[in-house]
Amino acid sequence: MACGGWPVAQGAAVDDAAGAGPALYVVLVGPGGAGKGAIARELVRRDPSLWLSRSWTTRPRRPGEPEDAYVFVDRPTFEARVRAGGVLEWAEFLGHCYGTPWPDPPPGSDVLLEIDLQGAKQVRERRPDALVVLIAPPSEQVQAERLRGRGESEETVRRRVEKGRQELAEGALLADAVVVNDVLERAVGEVAGIIGARRAAVRGGELGDEPSGS
Ligand code: 5GP
Repeated sequence: MACGGWPVAQGAAVDDAAGAGPALYVVLVGPGGAGKGAIARELVRRDPSLWLSRSWTTRPRRPGEPEDAYVFVDRPTFEARVRAGGVLEWAEFLGHCYGTPWPDPPPGSDVLLEIDLQGAKQVRERRPDALVVLIAPPSEQVQAERLRGRGESEETVRRRVEKGRQELAEGALLADAVVVNDVLERAVGEVAGIIGARRAAVRGGELGDEPSGS
């Protein structure tokens, strides 16, 4: 099977849905060019209790892309990791493999994932309480311009915009919230507000669970 194994939700990896592990999984999904990466970087810069996972990929590093944007590996290495149950989720996206190693955040941190829709569905299965936020570009024209700005070829831009239509339609069904990334600052503020509201709801629930009176 592509990317070396079975879908992890049916695989041998340990499942932490039983309550162990980080308090909250925040998953940013959305098409390429929506600006998920920029939003994720800004969120963790502002909020030290958010821990950004670094994915593995078999995609070659783009010119100018930071060395630590991913753990760049070859396909056999990726496949071995998946077979060993070493990923929370993985997906094949436009011919390359991408996967999230089991998160190991500092105690008390929430985990932030920036992944594709197939991966988000797997996280949702394992952690039904995950907060999934769909990031949408303001228009396909803006999306294409952002992709071109990353040095993508016209063919790749075309494929990504086309795939993006499907990701937006399916993502809207999965996501808890949709944020249009028209202006980065505004979009980051909106996502931060959504995370804050979920944290408050979770904390409120925990307080509500405490025995009353004494
Ligand atoms: P890119 O090649 O543009 O960096 O990423 C392509 C797509 O793969 C993006 O939608 C990105 O969010 C997604 N992606 C990045 N890391 C992961 C991962 O670990 N798992 C999954 N499922 N998708 C990922």
